[in-house]
Amino acid sequence: MSNEGNKYSFENFRNVIGEYASCMDDYPYVLDLKNDVYYISEKAVERFAVPAAQFSDVSKTHEQFVYSEDYQMLIDDLAFIAAGKKEEHDIQYRWLDKDKKPIWINCKGRLLRSETGEPMFMIGCVNEIGNVSRADNVTGMFRMNVLRNRLSVIEDRKSVGYIIRIGIDGFKELNEKFGYDYGDYVLNGIANCVIGVKSNLMQAYYAHSDEFIIVRYDGGDAREAHKFYKKLRRRIDDFIEENKYEAFYTISAGILCGEHIREGDSEDVLKLSQFALHKAKQNGRNQDYIFDKADYEKFIYKQGVLASMRRSVANDFEGFELYFQPLVDMYKKGRIYGAESLLRYTMEDGTQISPVEFIPLLEESGLIIPVGKWVFERAIEMCSRCQQYVPEFKVSINISYVQVLKSNIVREINNIIKNNGVTPGSIVVEMTESGYLEFTPVVREIWEELRQIGIHIALDDFGTGYSNLSSISVLMPDVVKLDRGFTEKALTNDYENELMQHIISMVHSINLKICIEGVETEDDLARLMPMNPEFIQGYYFGRPCGETEFVKKFMIGS
Ligand code: C2E
Ligand code: CA
Ligand code: CA
Repeated sequence: MSNEGNKYSFENFRNVIGEYASCMDDYPYVLDLKNDVYYISEKAVERFAVPAAQFSDVSKTHEQFVYSEDYQMLIDDLAFIAAGKKEEHDIQYRWLDKDKKPIWINCKGRLLRSETGEPMFMIGCVNEIGNVSRADNVTGMFRMNVLRNRLSVIEDRKSVGYIIRIGIDGFKELNEKFGYDYGDYVLNGIANCVIGVKSNLMQAYYAHSDEFIIVRYDGGDAREAHKFYKKLRRRIDDFIEENKYEAFYTISAGILCGEHIREGDSEDVLKLSQFALHKAKQNGRNQDYIFDKADYEKFIYKQGVLASMRRSVANDFEGFELYFQPLVDMYKKGRIYGAESLLRYTMEDGTQISPVEFIPLLEESGLIIPVGKWVFERAIEMCSRCQQYVPEFKVSINISYVQVLKSNIVREINNIIKNNGVTPGSIVVEMTESGYLEFTPVVREIWEELRQIGIHIALDDFGTGYSNLSSISVLMPDVVKLDRGFTEKALTNDYENELMQHIISMVHSINLKICIEGVETEDDLARLMPMNPEFIQGYYFGRPCGETEFVKKFMIGS
């Protein structure tokens, strides 16, 4: 064993350890990577199943005193260090004491290189961590740092079959309802179910709050992962039954397998598994979801749009624009009496996004509140300007149910109306029925308040999935807007045509007005006129456009 020409030598390290270790609680060690020799203070030999203070064939010998479940993790880590891919070793795992009982230890070490940069030694210290075990106190499982370390040291994660991230559905509510002790009890119960169901080939980790991660490091595929999920669910159902249905909960799982585990670094992999679980929950919980790249790309794209809109909002709504589409009064010889305001968005890179795509993102993120207010302002200002040409001009504004529930739209609209000197009767608020499937008392109250101050209300998108006739008689909107999808069908199919006629006469019979949307051609108009709609909206009379163009085309000279 010679290290001539190098500033470090195994003998020197060993002597230092031998001399000072007796007065330390920790167990210093040195590992000679080139010669595969290890030396640890004598005290370690007294305490643990370590065969001798100095031994060779280091990996193999560790098998004698490292807890079997943790052995592979250690070997993977050492291989990484020996290959010079990692400068530091910092892992917690279990050694066996003299009675072969597992003891948690923390092993730290630093790589020392030769002058030519070759990995030569690892020198460091082992200490007992006693009760502060790495395995989580509630679940008895490893924590994330152990998983992170493992994923980062196994070469390319080539052999990893799958990663399953389990989440308890509605765990927060469960904690709130039954208390945190009960929450811990459930966590512990589920951890036991996981441990009971998993095979020896899998390793389980407690991620955080209500999430667990199960990994199969060598082989296995999506089908096996799915089967595991099913089995775990059954086991958890049994556990709930054993507890006499005191609390009921389900689990969701995001499964990552195959090539997706190999992409990027270990943090990327954990991110993808997080997305997979998020997707399983989004799909309705109590189910598993197998990672699909196309879904992930869609998600990333949406996040990009959302981030861009956030910046726009912070930047004085740059990128947002309000368009206007003419509304035509057929009872007044086709005169343009108003406009529907329609929001447009262009990203910083010039990409235009459809409102069908971005409105839901604004709603989910809550950005619809500031953007909606901005829309009120722009639309009402525009209305005030158009009234110079057409004094009875009305502007229609689309409102999302999120705005209704989370902001004081009545006060907002009222203030803006006053600032612009227009009457409440110039404003029409368009709301879709689908948004408030069961018109809650809160929504109804706002609906009533709007009506009381004199704002008109249009029931939008009538004729799509959710609409029902009885709701019209309860809500009594001023106008019922027939969805353009419905118009399209009525123009091509006899049954829908009959249906539209009936709906219109019914709406007329209770003295409400009708607006038919999506009239694109003269022929469409000719075929719909016999139904006697009050109002028409569609490309035939004009496409949505900016205010300047709208005024030039439809206001000047009207
Ligand atoms: P909507 O309220 O049903 O608006 C009518 C949609 O039909 C508009 O689509 C309009 O451009 C389109 N349209 C009008 N006439 C025709 C026609 O003759 N043929 C065809 N093919 N289409 C026609 P747009 O502007 O893409 O808006 C889509 C939806 O986005 C709107 O449907 C509305 O639900 C929502 N939206 C737009 N602006 C806002 C807004 O400011 N706030 C909220 N909450 N939602 C908005
Ligand atoms: Ca509308
Ligand atoms: Ca509509």
